[in-house]
Amino acid sequence: MAEDRVTTAIPIPLEPLQTLVSAIHFATDKHRQQRRKDADETPYINHPLSLLHLLVTEGSVTDPATLCAAVLHDTIEDTETTEAELYHHFGQEIASVVMEVSDDKNLPKTEQKRLQIEHAPHISERAKLVKLADKICNLRDLLTTPPVDWPSERKLAYFHWASEVVDGIRGAHPKLEELFDGLMAEVG
Ligand code: NDP
Ligand code: ZN
Repeated sequence: MAEDRVTTAIPIPLEPLQTLVSAIHFATDKHRQQRRKDADETPYINHPLSLLHLLVTEGSVTDPATLCAAVLHDTIEDTETTEAELYHHFGQEIASVVMEVSDDKNLPKTEQKRLQIEHAPHISERAKLVKLADKICNLRDLLTTPPVDWPSERKLAYFHWASEVVDGIRGAHPKLEELFDGLMAEVG
């Protein structure tokens, strides 16, 4: 009977499950007015959820703090969320990973991009996984649902910049790095 199957299935531990679902709920609310840059204006939350999907299904990552940080990774950069808010809701461990993968928006764009390359080798293992997943998901988006107004040179420039960032975190997750390299091979 279906009921028996429900009661005998191995339960997901409640505490990390609650934190992960709360992170999804929080990010969904924070990004609710935002869209990606593709022609269909895909709801923004699809992107953090793609990182979660990638890390779990293709990367077999089960560390709750990494998965929560992946879901929350663009809240500081792209919404009004503060570090204190993340700390309050999710604690120091998760908040600090999100801060590690957030650019300082007060700096010029080119400087933000240069600093990502410079900082990548020195961030935590959790932050490396989130950063790697972010780059893979963005490259996949560029190949399938790119920003509407980007000429091919700009897409190519983004691929090469992402590659420089990922070169600084190699060794963090060989299987995901292989996926990244496969995407790079598609653009030559
Ligand atoms: P941006 O940083 O402006 O945009 C790329 C980011 O957009 C991605 O990292 C991703 O970030 C987000 N994004 C949203 N929707 C999509 C999608 N459908 N596909 C992929 N990514 C998406 O771009 P650049 O890095 O190219 O530009 C940096 C700066 O240089 C900007 O100031 C830009 O104006 C300027 N510039 C660059 C040119 C170039 O050739 N590189 C040409 C002209 C201007 P997230 O993960 O945070 O969502
Ligand atoms: Zn992102």
